[in-house]
Amino acid sequence: MITKIPTKILIVEDESIVAQDLQALLQEMGYYVPLFVDSGELAIKKVAEIHPDLILMDIRLIGDMDGIETAEKITEQFDIPIIYLTAHGDEETLSRAKITQPFGYIIKPFNEQELRILIEISLYKHKFDLKIKENAQWLSIILNSIGDGVIVTDMNGNVTFLNPSAEKITGWSLTEAINQPITSVFNLIHETTQDSLNNFLIEVIKSGEFTKLPELTSLITKTGALVSISDSLSPIANTRGIRFVKNSLKELTGTVLVFRDNTEQKLAQQQLRHQAFYDSLTNLPNRSWFLERLTDAIERTKRNHEYLFAVLFLDLDRFKIINDSLGHWAGDEILIIVGNRLLKLARPMDTIARLGGDEFAILLENVANIHEVCKFAQRVQKELSISCQIKDNKIFTNASIGIVFSSIDYETIEDIIQYADIAMYRAKEQGQGHYAVFDNSMRQEVINLLILENELRRALEDNEFDVSYQPIISLSDKKIAGFEALVCWRHPQKGLLSAAHFINIAEQTDLILEIDHFVLQKACNQLKAWQKIYPDAENWTVSVNLSGKQFLKPHLDQEILQTLHESGLKANCLKLEMTEGILVENPEAITIIFSRLKELGITFALDDFGTGYSSLSYLYHFPFNTLKIDRSFVNRIDTDQSGLEIVRTIILLAKNLQLDVVAEGIENLPQITLLKDLYCEYGQGYLFAKPLSSSATISWIESYLSST
Ligand code: C2E
Ligand code: MG
Ligand code: MG
Repeated sequence: MITKIPTKILIVEDESIVAQDLQALLQEMGYYVPLFVDSGELAIKKVAEIHPDLILMDIRLIGDMDGIETAEKITEQFDIPIIYLTAHGDEETLSRAKITQPFGYIIKPFNEQELRILIEISLYKHKFDLKIKENAQWLSIILNSIGDGVIVTDMNGNVTFLNPSAEKITGWSLTEAINQPITSVFNLIHETTQDSLNNFLIEVIKSGEFTKLPELTSLITKTGALVSISDSLSPIANTRGIRFVKNSLKELTGTVLVFRDNTEQKLAQQQLRHQAFYDSLTNLPNRSWFLERLTDAIERTKRNHEYLFAVLFLDLDRFKIINDSLGHWAGDEILIIVGNRLLKLARPMDTIARLGGDEFAILLENVANIHEVCKFAQRVQKELSISCQIKDNKIFTNASIGIVFSSIDYETIEDIIQYADIAMYRAKEQGQGHYAVFDNSMRQEVINLLILENELRRALEDNEFDVSYQPIISLSDKKIAGFEALVCWRHPQKGLLSAAHFINIAEQTDLILEIDHFVLQKACNQLKAWQKIYPDAENWTVSVNLSGKQFLKPHLDQEILQTLHESGLKANCLKLEMTEGILVENPEAITIIFSRLKELGITFALDDFGTGYSSLSYLYHFPFNTLKIDRSFVNRIDTDQSGLEIVRTIILLAKNLQLDVVAEGIENLPQITLLKDLYCEYGQGYLFAKPLSSSATISWIESYLSST
């Protein structure tokens, strides 16, 4: 059972008889009255000791203080309800007493019932007051400490309260803001349209309905700065945004606005967005952003057929060379310069993006026709062709541009990207600084390529690939130096196809890896087989072409070693041919593999020299044994003086670097004579033999050996 602790009452009364009577009466009524005192001084002392729940205070007391003064002192220190006891109710005394906010007066002599009611009401009221005080304290702690701004207005929309956060956000202090119209202190505009939201605020206050702040709201502070704000997320009074205060009669008395400063959050969001959508080097939009804009553009064309756009893909010419020869730092500088130049040419509505590496993309919006786009491409090329000063170097670059115009009815974003890419490669094929517009014939080519790719896969499964051999001849003594192994395809319908028909496609897929491996195996086995028949063949080499993709394999050297081992062919009988492009793409990996393979005794030939970058630095850097002059130069030497000069220079260069030279594509005798005059050691071409099947090669060898 819970026993109720009786209410403790202190009596302050100088007439001891009255005090005794009162004590007895109160005890009878169930109150606890441990003692009574007769002076103010004593009363203050006892209050501190016994902490009464209520004090009954006579106004007239003995000593220096009367009851009113005593009550004043007590209430300064303690929160205890006081009821005055008085024999007479003169006006002056009562008004003095009032100041001490007593809980009641009781006129002597007491009526028991009246006394009980007064005591109980006082205790109840005191408890209630305490609660209110506590609540007010809580509220003020919350309002002063929360980061959310809180502004309260009256029904006329004039400010009645501002918490410290609201002061900080708005720039208005509480004293300045009091009684100001809310639209001055809380001056809102829409972030994008810049429209004032004053009317909205006034409407809200008038209507009295709970409302949220609109999206993208900004506050104009007292100093005129713009702060992005939003509805607060803190659950003050269980609600957010703009809320209404009702009085006890359920009438609206004003508005509470709760809001927060969004600036930092916005900034963080912007930064995240920037990271996700911008390229950190050039500060241009990146691929993701570009694709988003392109998606929008496609959607717009679908809705409005008048709206036309164009996509331009740019690939910087010679970028790899710049990067490799001057370093990544210079490459980065070039990319930044190019980005800025492109920005200068574009209109604000266009999107200039860096897709990665040295690839840029431009989305031209709302263009009139393809001529306008081509003119733009020409302007870009003109602008980019201006040299860039990077430290002490004047660097020249340009871009190959592929263009897709929106009048072609494609379906997807992937289509457009693919077409732009194709057009760009077409532009590159024309040489540096060209542009090409994608058209339907290119589309058909794409389809054909896809078909071809599928067919290649099938051909590999069905063993339709074979190897042809083309002899390489020593020009001085006409001896066979070796053979180049060239893949070919025995197509069930189209007949025998040479590598030129499909090797590029195979190189775009991983099929090339299998093809190369097949050729390598077959060629090694073949030469070994010939060596068993022809003693001369011990000095022959078989040249195998390697695609760039091979060098991405981590164990290429092991694979080659294994093939040699299985065939029994000596390493110095194998020559690997590769083009310059491969070296440009992946110089580090290739250097490592080269040195490993060279240790084994394998030799290397740089193929098609003159068609690629023709950069001498590759010849110095990589330990080539042989340089093969591309047939496009060789087949001009007998008809074109400058062709002859080029070949002469290449041969001189090769000699300086102690490289053997093979002239590719020799088709007639005058070419041989000229090449011999230039001291070119080896030759290869239709004049000696076309690439031949394995059995046809045997017949050729037999007849060649017998004729020389
Ligand atoms: P390549 O390595 O420069 O091979 C020489 C190409 O020139 C061969 O074309 C050959 O048939 C052709 N050719 C040789 N002499 C003459 C001539 O006197 N006149 C003319 N007009 N052409 C001549 P093919 O077999 O079509 O090969 C083309 C290219 O494909 C090769 O050029 C090589 O880069 C690549 N390739 C060939 N086989 C393979 C292979 O197994 N793997 C890889 N990765 N690439 C290969
Ligand atoms: Mg070759
Ligand atoms: Mg070649």
